[in-house]
Order: sequence, then structure tokens, then C-alpha cells
Amino acid sequence: MSDAQGRPTQPDISAAGAPPATFSGDRGLALEEASIFALSRAGVTGVDLPEPKGVAPRLAGLERKGAIGLPGLSEPEVVRHFVRLSRRNYAIDLGVFPLGSCTMKHNPRLNEKMARLPGFADLHPLQPVSTVQGALGLIDSLAHWLKVLTGLPVIAMSPKAGAHGELCGMMAIRAAIDARGERRRRVLVPASAHGTNPATAAQCGFEVDEIAGDATGRVSAASVAERLGPDVAGIMLTNPNTCGLFEREVREIAARVHEAGGYFYCDGANFNALVGRVRPGDLGVDAMHINLHKTFSTPHGGGGPGAGPVAFSEALAPFAPRPWVVHGAAGFALVEAEGDAKGAKPFGRLTAFHGQMGMFVRALAYMMSHGGDGLRQVAEDAVLNANYVMACLKDAMSVPFAGPCMHEALFDDAFLEGTGVATLDFAKALIDEGYHPMTVYFPLVVHGAMLVEPTETESKESLDRFIASMRGLALAAKAGDAARFKGAPFYAPRRRLDETQAARKPVLVAAEASPRAAAE
Ligand SMILES: *Cc1c(COP(=O)(O)O)cnc(C)c1O
Repeated sequence: MSDAQGRPTQPDISAAGAPPATFSGDRGLALEEASIFALSRAGVTGVDLPEPKGVAPRLAGLERKGAIGLPGLSEPEVVRHFVRLSRRNYAIDLGVFPLGSCTMKHNPRLNEKMARLPGFADLHPLQPVSTVQGALGLIDSLAHWLKVLTGLPVIAMSPKAGAHGELCGMMAIRAAIDARGERRRRVLVPASAHGTNPATAAQCGFEVDEIAGDATGRVSAASVAERLGPDVAGIMLTNPNTCGLFEREVREIAARVHEAGGYFYCDGANFNALVGRVRPGDLGVDAMHINLHKTFSTPHGGGGPGAGPVAFSEALAPFAPRPWVVHGAAGFALVEAEGDAKGAKPFGRLTAFHGQMGMFVRALAYMMSHGGDGLRQVAEDAVLNANYVMACLKDAMSVPFAGPCMHEALFDDAFLEGTGVATLDFAKALIDEGYHPMTVYFPLVVHGAMLVEPTETESKESLDRFIASMRGLALAAKAGDAARFKGAPFYAPRRRLDETQAARKPVLVAAEASPRAAAE
């Protein structure tokens, strides 16, 4: 068979019927892989070390008696196992990762190279500070960049994720309120907030008071003012918000909250839309976490814990947690112990050590390689790319809020009405197109939400390919081709899993039987 230009075309498998079940369980180059424990064979090992002779145990009888149950495989089997698993993973190094609110941008290789320098990678957190002056200097430089970019005077470096940063910020707010001898326990949280916001507030002993957005998808100063009172500890506001929209009344909201004696916690997960353009300190923010794995390009997971430093205003600065880096006559030092710093009333500490060094190195490498002007362009290009996606898809899909967006484009499921296709089906069909789906059903304030965040690291060419898939799917749904959605994904290693069961009754023990037997 050939097309109009005479190029050979693929045979149409669907026309020929279902592809044959293979004897191996593999499908072409899509290889099945059992759990490493199912593959294990007794007595097999990848190392050959002589039994140590004449070494008396020094554990005073506490040494282990039995085997610890490590799987037995040869080295090539172990290598194949993990390479096979890695081929089933979708990654930012593989394709567009349009997961809204997550800022899945490229992780520059320069960052990785810097993080692997032995002077950073081989440090131990208990080394004497005289031997880690360079590392402390790096933490100090990173904090300096974050202070300049946020316009806030103090940064707590130790929190290890955005949600952990929220905890840090809200604990500081709680400490500040306690120090005033007040009992303010109500925290205002918009309905569009990320689930971690109300969860954090509740975790810190606050009562969550939800504020509805207005018809434009934003929070109005009037609706905030209505709820303020002497029992309000503050507000947790995301800007731009999770609908991808700038909160236009943010300064007035901050002023009202401050007048009422409360604090302004800003969820800084969407800082990618503002970095280099807007300083949150100028908007009246008292505390804001910064997800280094979002705005500053460090990897999301995979390499251990992340980092979510928190910026504080003068009002909250005294309550920032230990430790922090100071610079004195003898070089850099760490404030670690209670009473080490005059005037400070830290609420305690959040982590055993000083934060996530590998992520600090990567984030600073990113900042220094972009420079101030480059970081500003990051925000501009991120916003431009999201608006390009929205403009190209607006006529085929439907948008809940009119006007341009910030760094992410929000769609709802109105365009799917009457097609028999739901947002979930649409997301599954996108897997068949070779993409990780966008964020779905979030924010909760929009029916059947689809939140697309392309980030600035996608080229126009890759965006055009992604848009073509989205557009093709939208038109297919409207044309009545529900079958391609209801059965999707057709081309994934597994089809539709029972996600409710998986969440409610997770099977955390590797099954004895090989997944080949249990497949689908
Ligand atoms: C990602 C995100 C968080 C939580 O950050 P983690 O680093 O995943 O803990 C909080 N709020 C918003 C809006 C986010 O997008």
C-alpha cells in the first residue's frame, strides 16, 4: 500500500482484525516486566565477594540472624529490569507534559552537571561548617536571589516541597498570632485553591472558611472584606490563581486582610507566570512558598525530596524556622540552636538538616544561567505559550472564563455536552496520542476542568503538534466518535485501571504471580 506521494503506508491492523496475542506476552518492543521479587531466584547474585575471615562482629549480639530478603538476580537482569520499567514511564525528557499547576518544564543538563560536582554531591550534613563554606555560600546566594525575586526580606530554606512550605508559612502565622496573645483561628481560602491549602490550614489548627470566586474566576476584595473579623488569622491565596488568572484585586485584598489584623499567605506554586516581572512582596504577601521543582526547573521527584523555600515579610520574619545561614567575621555559619540569634522567635525546625542541597545547586545554576533578564523572559514566554494554546483551541473546545490567561489555559467540558465523552475519556485518549494528560477535574470550581500548562520550554513546533492532537480529539468527540474515547487508552501498556479501587485498596505487596498471568 502507498499514499498519494507513493510513500509506503502502514497496513491497517484494525481492518485485519485484532493483533495476535504473542507467546511472550510482549507486544513488539513494548516489553512486559514482572516485579523484581517475582523475577528473583534463590542463590543468584550479581556480586562475588569472599566471606570475610577473622572479623569478629562488633554489634554485641545485635547482628542480623536471617537473610533480609533481597531479590536474587544477576547484574544484567537487574539492569534490564530497571531499563524496562523506565521505558514504561512518561517523562519530561520524552514529550510535552501539559500537567496544569505542576509547571513541568525542561530540567537543564547544566543543573545536573553542577549538582554532581563532588564538592556539593559528597557533602555530609554533619560536617564541620569550616569544611562546607562553599555550600553555605551557595545556600546564601540562592536565598539572596529568592529575596530579590520575591521582594521579601527573609527566606526559610529547609522546607522540602510546596505543601511543606505551606506548613512552614502557616506555622509562622500561627506563631505570630500566638505571640500577640490572640486567638485567631479562621483562615480564608478561595474555592479554587489547591487541596493542600485547606489541608495545611486544618493541620495547623485553623478553621477553613471558603470564599467563592466571582464570574470572572477571581476573588474580589469585597467578598474577602465581608468575611474578615477579629478571629481571622489570614488568607491563603494563589496568584495567578488555579484558573490561570491574575488576581486583579490582590493588593486591595492584602490591605484589607492586614487592616483586620491578619496575614497574607500566598501559594507561590504559580510563580512561573510572574518571576522577574512581579515581586510578591510588592503585592502585600507575608509568606509564600516557592516550588523549586516548578519555577526553577529542578526535577519533580525521582531524585529524592524536593525543595520548597518560603519567603517571609518583616512581620513574619522573626518566626521563621531554624536553621538559617549567617555571614560573620569567620565566614558562613548556621543558626541552629535556640537563642543563637537575638530577637528571633523561630517556631522551631521543620527538617533534621538544612534543606535539599542537590535541589539548591540546580536551582541556583538555573538562575545564574538565565540571569535576571532571562528569568523575566521565562515568565513572558510561559504566558505567551499558554495563550497560544488557548487561542488555537478556543473554537474547538470551550473556556469557562473569557479573556487571556496567564501561564496555563483552562478548558471546561461544555464542548463535550451530548457527545457521551467525559473529561476523563478525553484525557485517556490523549495518552493514545502519546501525551501525558493535562490536569483534569481541577480546579473544582469548573465543570469537567482540563488545565493545560505548556511552560516556556516548549517550542512552537512541539506546541503545534500537541494542539493538533487536542483539536483532532475535540472534533472527533463532536463528530460522534465516542468509541475512540470510551475504550482509550488503546496503546498503553495497561488500559483503564480501576482507579477508585487502587486508591482505596492499594496492593502494596508484590504479587507472587507474574503480571504476565494477571495482565488486563
Ligand atoms: C504543586 C502545587 C502545590 C503543592 O506543591 P508540592 O511541591 O507538590 O507539595 C500547592 N499549590 C499549588 C497551586 C500547586 O500547583
